[in-house]
Amino acid sequence: MSIEATKVEAASVWRTVLRTAADLVLPPVCVVCRAPIVSHGLLCGSCFAGIDFIAPPLCTRLGVPLPYDTGEPYLSAAAIAAPPVYDRARAVARYSQTMRDLIQSFKYRDRQDGLSLFTRWLVRAGSDLLADAELLVPVPLYRSRLWSRRFNQSALLARGIENDTGVPADCFVLRRTRRTASQVGLSAAQRKRNVAGAFKVSASRAHAIAGKSVVLVDDVITTGATIEACARVLKRAGAARVDVLALSRAVEPAAFVL
Ligand SMILES: [Zn+2]
Repeated sequence: MSIEATKVEAASVWRTVLRTAADLVLPPVCVVCRAPIVSHGLLCGSCFAGIDFIAPPLCTRLGVPLPYDTGEPYLSAAAIAAPPVYDRARAVARYSQTMRDLIQSFKYRDRQDGLSLFTRWLVRAGSDLLADAELLVPVPLYRSRLWSRRFNQSALLARGIENDTGVPADCFVLRRTRRTASQVGLSAAQRKRNVAGAFKVSASRAHAIAGKSVVLVDDVITTGATIEACARVLKRAGAARVDVLALSRAVEPAAFVL
């Protein structure tokens, strides 16, 4: 056996030993409800059942589910009525109560044990987008909010996707230039006003996106006001294509009634 192979084998033995030790110290629990489960970084059966994964047939642009499969690329009524600034969006699951709990625990409670699970889901839901992607750009937080949460969950997701797919992530392309009120409880029009002019492409990073296929990474898409604002500045700065990949999307039934 070569020295390299021996090293790899030794590393793998160590990983197993460490994982077993970690299991003894910190028994695996569900990422959402903390119920005991068999292995780390997963959900228990009942939480998993609460996740409504978004599956084809999908609107080509918005990525929302369509009521039936036409067998060819199809646009939802919402995408035709108000075409988005971005090119295509895909999200892992509908914004159900379980997804809300899952994302909140990731966002506010420093629980990063769900990261590898989220990354796997995002890579699967965004496979079409990631096949064409040249750069991943996370939606930024404003500095003071970043400080209070200590990390930007969208940046963590983008880094996770980078590790899995090799598509580079650049966390310095977009900046949030002012603090915006929380979008919770605002109407669609208020959300749009709230984020208008709130994002900028860093002058020093503009060269990184010129002519590129960019995938914007966010945790939740609600009305789409934030991703629209980000896509607008990215396109203005010369991005050839801006797709959006998110963990969750609020899907209103009215959005896909034809
Ligand atoms: Zn659970």
